[in-house]
Amino acid sequence: MTSSFIVAIDGPAASGKGTLARRLAATLGFAHLDTGALYRAVGLTLLRTGHAPDDAVAAVAAAQGLDATTVLPMMNDPALRQDAVAVAASKVSVVPEVRAALLDFQRNFANHPPEGAKGAVLDGRDVGTVVCPDAPAKLYVTADVEVRARRRLSELRNTGAEAIYEAVLEDMKVRDARDSQRAVAPLKPAVDAFLLDTSMMDAEQAFVAATDFIRSRPAFPGFL
Ligand code: C5P
Repeated sequence: MTSSFIVAIDGPAASGKGTLARRLAATLGFAHLDTGALYRAVGLTLLRTGHAPDDAVAAVAAAQGLDATTVLPMMNDPALRQDAVAVAASKVSVVPEVRAALLDFQRNFANHPPEGAKGAVLDGRDVGTVVCPDAPAKLYVTADVEVRARRRLSELRNTGAEAIYEAVLEDMKVRDARDSQRAVAPLKPAVDAFLLDTSMMDAEQAFVAATDFIRSRPAFPGFL
C-alpha cells in the first residue's frame, strides 16, 4: 500500500507530456520521474560500450546494472537527449527483461517519492497501464504526428542541430510504430485515462486541462 498520490502520464514522443509532467510536479510539490530517461540510460550505456542497440543480452545486463546510485546522476546528461539515444532506447525497450529490470525502480519511486514528497508524477509509455495501474490520476497526452514532428524539429534546431522535417517525421513514425506494436507494455491509453490531445493547445492550455482533471479525482487531497 502507498499513501503517495501518483499521477501517471503516458503518450508518444513530443506530445508535450514531459513539459506537462515537470510543471505539474513543480506545482504540486511532487517528485518527477521521466521514465523514458531510464530506457535512454540503457541505450546510452550500450552505445558508449560499443554494443549494438539491438543486442538484447547487453541491454539486459545494462538495465540490471542501473540503480538509484547510477541512474540518478545520468538523468541530466545532455547526451540522453540525442536522437540516436532515443532510437537505441526504443530498441532496448522491446526486451521484456529490460522492462522487468526497470520496473521496481519506477514503482519504488512512485510509492516512496524522494525527499518526503507527498506524491509523484511519472511520465512514459506504460505508467498507467503497467507500472502504476492503480494510480488515481492517469493522463494520456497525444498530438498529431505532424505536429509532434514540428515540435521536435524546433527543439533540435534550438540546440543547434541540423534537422530536416521529413526525416524527423519519418523517425517519429517508426518510433511510434515500434512503441505501440511491441508485445510487452505497448504504448496505449489506460482504460481510465483522461485523453488530452495537445495538437491545438499550447503548454499553458494543456496544463490547465490536466490540473482540472487531477483536481477532480476523488483521491486528490486538494492542495493545489
Ligand atoms: O519518452 P522518451 O522519448 O524519452 O522515451 C524513449 C523511448 O523509451 C521510447 O521511444 C520508448 O521506446 C521507451 N520507453 C518505454 N516505456 C516508458 C518510457 C519510454 O518503452 N515508460
